[in-house]
Amino acid sequence: MYWEKEIETLDRTGLEALQLKRLKTTLNWTANSPYYGRAFRELGIDPGGVETLADVKKLPMTTKDDLRDQWPYGFLAVSRDELVRMHSSSGTTGRATVVFHTANDIGQWTDIIARSMYMTGMRKSDVFQNMMTYGLFTGGLGFHYGAEKIGALTIPAGAGNSKRQIQLMQDFETTAIHVIPSYALHLMSVFGEMAVDPWKDTKLRIAFLGAEPHSEKMRRKLEDFYGFKAFDSYGLSEMCGPGVAFECPFQNGLHIWEDHFLVEIIDPETLAPVPDGEEGELVLTTLVRDGMPILRYRTKDLTRILPGPCECGRTHRRIERIKGRTDDMMIIKGVNIFPIQIERKLMGIPGVGNNFVIILERAEFTDLMIIKVEVQRETFMGDLRQLEALRRRIVEELKSDILITPRVDLVEPDSLPKSEGKAKRVMDNRKD
Ligand code: ADP
Ligand code: ZN
Repeated sequence: MYWEKEIETLDRTGLEALQLKRLKTTLNWTANSPYYGRAFRELGIDPGGVETLADVKKLPMTTKDDLRDQWPYGFLAVSRDELVRMHSSSGTTGRATVVFHTANDIGQWTDIIARSMYMTGMRKSDVFQNMMTYGLFTGGLGFHYGAEKIGALTIPAGAGNSKRQIQLMQDFETTAIHVIPSYALHLMSVFGEMAVDPWKDTKLRIAFLGAEPHSEKMRRKLEDFYGFKAFDSYGLSEMCGPGVAFECPFQNGLHIWEDHFLVEIIDPETLAPVPDGEEGELVLTTLVRDGMPILRYRTKDLTRILPGPCECGRTHRRIERIKGRTDDMMIIKGVNIFPIQIERKLMGIPGVGNNFVIILERAEFTDLMIIKVEVQRETFMGDLRQLEALRRRIVEELKSDILITPRVDLVEPDSLPKSEGKAKRVMDNRKD
């Protein structure tokens, strides 16, 4: 049941003692990096002066812009000879950031991926098809190494090429996949075209869904269609990549591996810690990384710590599934809306297809939200009254949740642009 029982179930006192020890080591080490060395001197911080975990609050926070400004080597805490791998972020919100790994960093990362996969029930007898982009993006190689460490046969399928993905699943009896949720949704229509029934014609039993926000409704829709159990996988390249937090078999929040990361939740406006259990921005400090340790990284991801212990017996705290990034928030007529609120509603309405896009326009006196929604083929071919009823239902359901009335356009299945990587859900044309 556990990959590393002792560490996964270590009592809180033991876990916090381990964190403090690792934080102290990390700080001394971090002083070697040009960026933090300078920051410590300028702010008069003694990296050896940390006595408790709460002292972390005296340290400076780090942002994606800091990483961009120091591109490429300003955060290195080791000589370049020690590095064995480079990765970068996807560049979802601007220029990508680059992250370097020593051999030890790769080993640590591999361990938490193996631990996470094992936690969901994956074993060496599984056949694992990794449908993430290989290359600079961390979702490919990160999971690849973890799966091999468990000993599972690993198929480095990479992203895209949908028909071949399905063919591989059938030919090699794939049991576990790693996939971006919006792509898994798109793949459903390809299964239809190929007349392959995932329940009958494949052996799929586990899916790791990661790299972008998705709702509980989306998870259930995918589980119903594919017949697998799906686990939310969270990570970011700045911390290592995937493996930072992962769902256990109880599928109720993601255990964040606290022997590797120190967790804070802050108010993104005031930067003050939020009270326990309240939503805020996740801030992480690496505790075991050598090449490029990062202190108090502002992930921009919104979540909260779930209270209470988990039934699985693991002591590492759980975060709620990520609601979105602070920059994903749309402000329309003064109302704050996250794309996931719209996704969650759409996924619960029968007849809605596998893709949608939100377009924001500035009209003369007001902002306009247009949502283009793909509908299922049978519905699309059906009569107009039925389509109009569906359109109205979508408008009504959205209105009751987001409190503004969007314009909803129903479109043909597979007609909206799709991505092999993270879905681009919002097109904001309001900027001058
Ligand atoms: P980028 O920040 O350019 O997208 P990364 O590839 O490092 O680069 O992606 C990390 C980000 O992806 C996270 O900060 C988060 O916003 C998003 N992300 C990753 N996994 C999840 C997940 N399971 N749920 C929601 N968002 C996720
Ligand atoms: Zn658990």
